[in-house]
Amino acid sequence: MKRENFDPYPGRIYENNGGGQFICISGGDDPNSWIMKNISSGWTFEAHGIGMYEDGTIDWNYSTGGYFDKMRKWESQSEVLNEAVKTFGKEKQVDMMIEEMSELTKALLDERRGRGMKINISEEIADVQIMIEQMKIIFENADVVDGFRDEKIARLAIRVSALKTGGEE
Ligand SMILES: [Mg+2]
Repeated sequence: MKRENFDPYPGRIYENNGGGQFICISGGDDPNSWIMKNISSGWTFEAHGIGMYEDGTIDWNYSTGGYFDKMRKWESQSEVLNEAVKTFGKEKQVDMMIEEMSELTKALLDERRGRGMKINISEEIADVQIMIEQMKIIFENADVVDGFRDEKIARLAIRVSALKTGGEE
């Protein structure tokens, strides 16, 4: 199977070619290494030279510094997201946001054409949500976003209940 060099994204989960699921925690000490964690065992290590196969699974050339995640370097998901923004920077993560939105668009269109799988939509929604969280970190506007969200949902509630009342008459 063809294998190509691959840069994983922090916060995303990848299937290992030999089995097991691994979350990318952050970039490693050199440009070609990444901190990866086996999500079931907690085994965390630096993976050097990650490659992705045609079927979307990954592996790495070798790994160093493995430990069981007892130290809990990453206490929460928001730490991972903050670190992702720090590691990759605004430009790269905004690109990723755009890319993930188009992947969700494609998954929805596939579904509409009867070709889609529900699992794809679920995964793409999760990807978009993860990137949205990072956008709020980058643009430092979580409060403003939440304000708009509350306001818009309140307005939507009025519209929906107006329509419902109208329909019942
Ligand atoms: Mg995606």
